[in-house]
Amino acid sequence: MAYQSINPYTGEEVASFPEATDAEIEQALATAHEAFKSWRALSFDERAEYLRRAAGLFRERAEELSLLQTAEMGMPLSLSRPQTEYMIPSMLEYYAENAEAFLADEKLDVNEAEGETWITHQPLGIIYAVEPWNGPFYQAIRPACGNLMAGNVVMLKHASNIPGCADAVAQVFTDAGLPEGVFTNVFATHDQSARIVADPRVRGVTLTGSDAAGARIGEQAGRAIKPAVLELGGSDPMIVLEDADLALTARCSMFRFLTSGQACISNKRIIVVDSIYDEYLEQYKQMTEGLTPGDPADPATGFGPLSSKEAADGVREQIRRAVEAGATAIEVGPKVPDVETFVQATILTDVTPDNPVYYEEIFGPVPVIFRVRDEAEAIELANDSPYGLGGGVYSQDIERAKRVAAQIDTGMVAINAPLYVYDDMPFGGTKRSGIGKEMGPHGIKEFVNSKLITIPVSPVI
Ligand code: NAP
Repeated sequence: MAYQSINPYTGEEVASFPEATDAEIEQALATAHEAFKSWRALSFDERAEYLRRAAGLFRERAEELSLLQTAEMGMPLSLSRPQTEYMIPSMLEYYAENAEAFLADEKLDVNEAEGETWITHQPLGIIYAVEPWNGPFYQAIRPACGNLMAGNVVMLKHASNIPGCADAVAQVFTDAGLPEGVFTNVFATHDQSARIVADPRVRGVTLTGSDAAGARIGEQAGRAIKPAVLELGGSDPMIVLEDADLALTARCSMFRFLTSGQACISNKRIIVVDSIYDEYLEQYKQMTEGLTPGDPADPATGFGPLSSKEAADGVREQIRRAVEAGATAIEVGPKVPDVETFVQATILTDVTPDNPVYYEEIFGPVPVIFRVRDEAEAIELANDSPYGLGGGVYSQDIERAKRVAAQIDTGMVAINAPLYVYDDMPFGGTKRSGIGKEMGPHGIKEFVNSKLITIPVSPVI
């Protein structure tokens, strides 16, 4: 395994770094463990200053960083640039602003004889974050911003195909003046990663990625008796009821093609009630004509290649297997460039439960559209998935949409809108989509010791 990035559009190498030696990993752990002792002792205001400086550097370096992100994994610059310039700084500033309030002591309303009792939220130590390539900066900052403000230190092991971005994030924190060891990037092998998880100086583990990787890292964390947050894959249902605003719904359905379908929260299964199915499908197909495939570094491009040839081959293979098992594949939108990492936008219909892709996540520009009789069947199909990340309900009757949303077994549901990520909304799934939350008031409490302190009126002896 090498830490190397290949531009998926040009095929050229972007960056390459050697894997860490065991001695380097040991040094990184020792430094981080030592750094924790002084980092935890800083006030929230002091820690916030560092995060604000890092946010400012992301803004200052937006041009260079967004081009790097685009080059390493193919995210169109039209998305990469606003992510780097606005989204990432905003995440850092959100916790810089709110962490103290979220982690304030909580007085408990206990029996009078139990006296004064409260919960205080204290940091744990080194939090090890294993992250995916599909949002290189976003995925590095999401576990970092809350944990750093909580007083934890963060050790990042980013995906091996975007090492330039991993290195650039670490550089931003260094240039923001963070003491050495407070945020560390390690180019660890999977074996070294397992040893990091097991190391007693590491006090929590968070992984974003596939459910297969989540199962492995979760198992390692369980054996070491450590808290783990797992943010895994999904196959989000999008329920379109007969009273939906079809023009709005078709527009929102285009969210499926964000980063060419390589988003965890994406309306991967579109479930449409029979009476409006044909009209919806027609409008959706028309909307796809507005896709703008091309060179991801061209600011006019909205639809880029997949991250690698292997990723594109995998999606093409899923389409092939789906069709072999009876599905219909409808190619839509403008023809994509003749580059092996591009996958033509394709709608799959007639996918039945015995089709292998029925229960799979498709990480590419391939929505599966289902026709159902009514609301009840839509909910049943939505929940017939091993995953439970996000979802959507489209209906002009908001009370009805709320009732349906309440019956979807996922961690997040949006009504009449694509599910998007915001700093102040806790992100996370259920079932095979994971455990725990990141961001919002809940995310910052995943890796703290919520310690009880009590002063009983008269001690029981
Ligand atoms: P992946 O293979 O699971 O890789 C994710 C990370 O885990 C990478 O850093 C990878 O490192 C590491 N990893 C995998 N196996 C490991 C092991 N045995 N030991 C240590 N590290 C290991 O994920 P992917 O397929 O590239 O990413 C796409 C998946 O992530 C999709 O399923 C997507 O839905 C999911 N995702 C979920 C969220 C969310 O928030 N829920 C967000 C984004 C993506 P290497 O590169 O070194 O193998």
